[in-house]
Amino acid sequence: MAPTAPAPFSEPLLPQLDLPTNPYYTEKHHRLRAFVRNYVDTELAPFAQEWEIAGQVPESVRLRHCQLGFAITHPVLDPADAGGIQQPAGIPFAEWDTWCSVIVGDEFARLGWCGPIWGLGGGNGIGCPPISRFGTKEQRQKWLPKVARGEIRFCLGITEPDGGSDVANIKTTAERRGNKYIVNGDKKWITNGIWCDFCTAAVRTGGPGHGGISLLVVPLKAKGASTRRMENQGVNASGSTFITFEDVEVPVENLIGQENHGFQLIMSNFNPERLSLATAALRLARVCAQDAYAYACDRKTFGKKLIEHPGIKSKVATFGLLIEPAHSFLEQLCFIIETSRVTGKEVNVGGMTALLKVMSTRCLEQVCREAQQIMGGAGYSKTGRGARIEQISRDVRVHVVGGGSEEVMLDLAVRQEARDVKLRATKLAASSKL
Ligand SMILES: Cc1cc2nc3c(=O)[nH]c(=O)nc-3n(C[C@H](O)[C@H](O)[C@H](O)COP(=O)(O)OP(=O)(O)OC[C@H]3O[C@@H](n4cnc5c(N)ncnc54)[C@H](O)[C@@H]3O)c2cc1C
Repeated sequence: MAPTAPAPFSEPLLPQLDLPTNPYYTEKHHRLRAFVRNYVDTELAPFAQEWEIAGQVPESVRLRHCQLGFAITHPVLDPADAGGIQQPAGIPFAEWDTWCSVIVGDEFARLGWCGPIWGLGGGNGIGCPPISRFGTKEQRQKWLPKVARGEIRFCLGITEPDGGSDVANIKTTAERRGNKYIVNGDKKWITNGIWCDFCTAAVRTGGPGHGGISLLVVPLKAKGASTRRMENQGVNASGSTFITFEDVEVPVENLIGQENHGFQLIMSNFNPERLSLATAALRLARVCAQDAYAYACDRKTFGKKLIEHPGIKSKVATFGLLIEPAHSFLEQLCFIIETSRVTGKEVNVGGMTALLKVMSTRCLEQVCREAQQIMGGAGYSKTGRGARIEQISRDVRVHVVGGGSEEVMLDLAVRQEARDVKLRATKLAASSKL
């Protein structure tokens, strides 16, 4: 459990302020944050480490998580897709916005134990949005209410043994035979896979390259589908899985969107995932700042508290230098995404979201390193006051690599910005604003 006295840079600034007008956060956001925080502190935090070591969150806990509305897939196009479950804190369906999703992710990450959070709903969180956004009404009604109630689980299967970054070259095939696809291939590092009923999978239905890829919901309990748990450095309770498809028969009705048009759907699914990874990375950095500062206020060396040594205070200042600008950029992007959602005016944020992901995960890498250093030996120990930081030091890498790895993100950011900056300049010149 985190110490109760808040440390510098342990909380985002704007949600804490009692301003006459807050640019982003309204009463419903504060209510939602309080609801999630109370749930995490009382129902998850006391057991999170135990579940991470065990490699799984108990099923009763997962079902309770669903009952509280955390398995509802956003965007909710039709409240019936939520299967009779209310949204967290009773937020009406029409009022759920980008900020709500960010707040939930932020508060979950505040637990400091990513494995259990991913174990509770990581697979649904990335495997179901393609259905809610691009699926037919029949597909939404068939799967999403059951997901919301916790009756079935989804994962997302993009990455393969031969590659993850180069999505256009995936090798898993889905060959059409009559009213079925026959699926063959392997998927690797698939979060929650061992516990899932369905995998929203990238499959090759056409020729080489991105023009031959489709998104297909493959039943994991079907004949020919098999799963095995993978052992990784961290997120032990996330159920990382190697999936094998051998002549798996999949009804053609399980195709999401049009055949051979899956690549665009996969790419657009990445933006919310990257925003969520950035949100988590920044909050994990705040958790490190919290635990290290609390320790530095108690621990004495050479007759002084650690925090009184300039070298240690300077590390704490570095936490602020790294976390706060990245968080402001996160909020700026959220504002753009939310405005685009409300107005329907499309804004391309793919490159900037990729940049944010790198900024946030680099922030986490450095903050975690310095926080661990403040803790000395305690930061290397799996028990006691440094246990969360020690765990985060093992969960950092998957935030840097997962959902789009750093080098690929930076390349995307530069390519898109090189294009978009010109488009924006032309538009501004036309409206004589610049
Ligand atoms: C715990 C965990 C959970 C995951 N969950 C899922 C999941 O649920 N679903 C899913 O589909 N995938 C999942 N992944 C996979 C993850 O998305 C991939 O690991 C990631 O996309 C990178 O792919 P790769 O590992 O194959 O690396 P590669 O693509 O082989 O790249 C290796 C390294 O080279 C760099 N690189 C690649 N191309 C270039 C280039 N052109 N220039 C410079 N550098 C380059 C990359 O940045 C990376 O650092 C998960 C991974 C982990 C570890």
